[in-house]
Amino acid sequence: MAVITYKCPNCGGELVFDPASQKYKCEYCVSEFTQRQLEEMTPAEGSERVDDTADDENGSRSASRSGKSSAQTAMVYTCPSCGAEVVTDETTAATFCYYCHNPVVLGGRLSGEYLPDKIIPFSIDRKSATEQFMKFVGKKKFVPKAFFNEEQIEKFSGVYYPYWIYDCDTEGWVNAEATRVRTWRSGDTEYTETSIYQVERDGDITLKNIPKNALKKSDKALVNGVFPFRLSEAKQFSMGYLSGFLAEKRDMEKQDFAAQLHQEAEKYSQQILRDSITGYSTVNVRNSRINHGQETWNYLLLPVWVLTYAGRNGKVYYYTMNGQTGTIRGELPVDYKKLSLFSLIVGVALAVVCMIGGYLT
Ligand SMILES: [Zn+2]
Ligand SMILES: [Zn+2]
Repeated sequence: MAVITYKCPNCGGELVFDPASQKYKCEYCVSEFTQRQLEEMTPAEGSERVDDTADDENGSRSASRSGKSSAQTAMVYTCPSCGAEVVTDETTAATFCYYCHNPVVLGGRLSGEYLPDKIIPFSIDRKSATEQFMKFVGKKKFVPKAFFNEEQIEKFSGVYYPYWIYDCDTEGWVNAEATRVRTWRSGDTEYTETSIYQVERDGDITLKNIPKNALKKSDKALVNGVFPFRLSEAKQFSMGYLSGFLAEKRDMEKQDFAAQLHQEAEKYSQQILRDSITGYSTVNVRNSRINHGQETWNYLLLPVWVLTYAGRNGKVYYYTMNGQTGTIRGELPVDYKKLSLFSLIVGVALAVVCMIGGYLT
């Protein structure tokens, strides 16, 4: 029951979420459907099972959940469109059938405790993401041609990444020693007066929207690099949004982040209280106390366009774009042949300048 695709009621073609119109489009007969219409449809179902490498389903599941081996458990599903068997890894929640290329949503991966609270649907479609990417690459001088050929661009994927979004209240107090310095002159003498103050601040603080990427295998620097998202625009989660994209489910839990987040919350709270002490020459925090109050965790899927590229040196390069705001982050390969040609031209230009200089003197 876990594997689903949404079929067009008019022609039976597959429906995909269209970021430009925020509707569902049939790629065959060009029909369009609203979110509401999609939710009223009964999606076509395939099946999913754990690969035979383990004796039984429970054995395999618990083995992989305990995380003893770093190897991900292979999962096999049957494509609802063509019946082919396709293997995915354990965190895949939406993908494409390798054989018929139709979108497939592995609903079972995002149900129960893994049901996301919210999702920010893609609002930038493949076409404009690609255009932005070409502009970005165009500005970089030493990128190898192969990086932006057609085949490479086809690997440009819209991926929903799993995130924990953390909110919390704290109650804090800081005690600081602050000084105010006044100088003045009278005749030949300069006077300096330093006043020392004990300053206290206490207050209730609300921290909102601290994001934590909840997928072990993602390149956090790059995915986090396209923050922030406009989280207030997140929508109630619906499976349909995943159709036509890739999606991952989380493999990191609240407890993996709790200690780190408490520390961050303390640090931010202390900083906020510290920053409220103004109008002094110096401020030194002597003492502080932060108490933790109410906290809220939300499990969200966030949209990111991702392109990876294996360089000739074996290094993998990434390019990412925020699927909601278009913010870009990229690490591009450098073509050393192009670079050395450029250095040569610069070298020649410099030599010419020197010769002119030599001639003039
Ligand atoms: Zn259709
Ligand atoms: Zn298929």
